[in-house]
Amino acid sequence: MLSIYNTATKKKTLFNPITPGKVTLYVCGVTVYGHCHIGHGRVYIFFDMVRRYLESSGYAVYYVRNITDIDDKIINRAAQNKEPIAALTQRFIDALHEDDHSLGILPPTAEPKATEFIPQMIVLIQRLMDKGIAYIAGNGDVCYDVHQFADYGKFAHQTLEKLHRGARIDILEGKKDPLDFVLWKLAKPDEPNWDSPWGKGRPGWHIECSAMSAACLGKHIDIHGGGSDLIFPHHQNEIAQSEAANDCRFANNWMHIGYVQVNAEKMSKSLNNFSTIRDVVLEYDVEIIRYFALASHYRSPINYSRENLESAQAGLARLYLSLRDLPPTDHISDTDFEKRFHDAMDDDFNTPIALSVLFDLVREINTLRDADKPQEAAALGNLLKKLSSVFGILQKEPTDFLQEGITEPDMQKIEALVAARNEARSNKDWKKADQIRQTLMDLGVVLEDHIAGTHIRKA
Ligand SMILES: [Zn+2]
Repeated sequence: MLSIYNTATKKKTLFNPITPGKVTLYVCGVTVYGHCHIGHGRVYIFFDMVRRYLESSGYAVYYVRNITDIDDKIINRAAQNKEPIAALTQRFIDALHEDDHSLGILPPTAEPKATEFIPQMIVLIQRLMDKGIAYIAGNGDVCYDVHQFADYGKFAHQTLEKLHRGARIDILEGKKDPLDFVLWKLAKPDEPNWDSPWGKGRPGWHIECSAMSAACLGKHIDIHGGGSDLIFPHHQNEIAQSEAANDCRFANNWMHIGYVQVNAEKMSKSLNNFSTIRDVVLEYDVEIIRYFALASHYRSPINYSRENLESAQAGLARLYLSLRDLPPTDHISDTDFEKRFHDAMDDDFNTPIALSVLFDLVREINTLRDADKPQEAAALGNLLKKLSSVFGILQKEPTDFLQEGITEPDMQKIEALVAARNEARSNKDWKKADQIRQTLMDLGVVLEDHIAGTHIRKA
């Protein structure tokens, strides 16, 4: 039985889907005006894994990840670039899909764009106006009156008083309270705009998700997720809008993913300490990046460093080494490893424990190999591959992964050196054999001698 930690209650609770057998999942996506960094990558890899795990557990998963294609940053960037907004956003939507593909992220069930749901946003804002929860501010924008929502702040475990202390009181912009947020922003001349009962303008950011989540998944959903930076104000505001307008609970479970840090600081565009997904995939195999993203618990911060990616690479190499040269078999071992893996995943997606079960499985495979039971080892190897598919790892041929990065000309040179070393060994010329092994190590290649022959892998 799956239990999930809920940000709203700060407790783990048993997952009980609204409709048996079906999961509705909404994740806040990107604002498309630049390339995604590996902090975004962690969030999307994690929810891709959640979707894979829920599907492998028998659920039909409806996974919606939205695209914000209208906002101040987009308008400013398009103006800077002197290009039409639609050209800018389409370019980065295409880039987002390339990044998804290079990270092995399965396409979400739906990817609604904000600009395609303006009528639904207007209906939602009108409902809030009719209920006296929204008002027209001094500057003409439509704002949400946070004093009309009894529990405002509760989601962030804050009181209004505490939130006020943190708010920038100087920026009122015609609002009744600095915490009030914009639902509909009047357009300045030359800005993109849509007609509305309150004049030509564009939606605020928070209302997008309330409208698109309801339009795509219904007013009450199972899981809503995103990065930890969205807890306040974005998710608090989504709750205030949706629950006040629809008179029902918005999401049963709220999941938030920890930051990716660089030298103990959050990776972000504003701090300019980010590595884009496209830069990282140039350097590391997709499975190494996924392993890195999933090796720590999702609520903890992780540190993006060469050391941590190399340790992910070493971990994956150990998993792959256990699969190398196993005889082909369709049989999948039915053992308690699978139950242990599911127990860990069912405990709030505890991927570090689930990974440790995979390493226990590796030890067992190696024991069976040593005991000359290749068929049993292969059947367990199939189980290892099956469980790993939830993480999107171990889906390659072992030699392809282990020899990745060795170019064809290098491979020819390496094979010639290995042949020379084998000849030296058969002539009992140990000194020469050792020299050749050292030459290969200098080339970044490790040799392993087995009865069946010599294996080559990248160090
Ligand atoms: Zn959102």
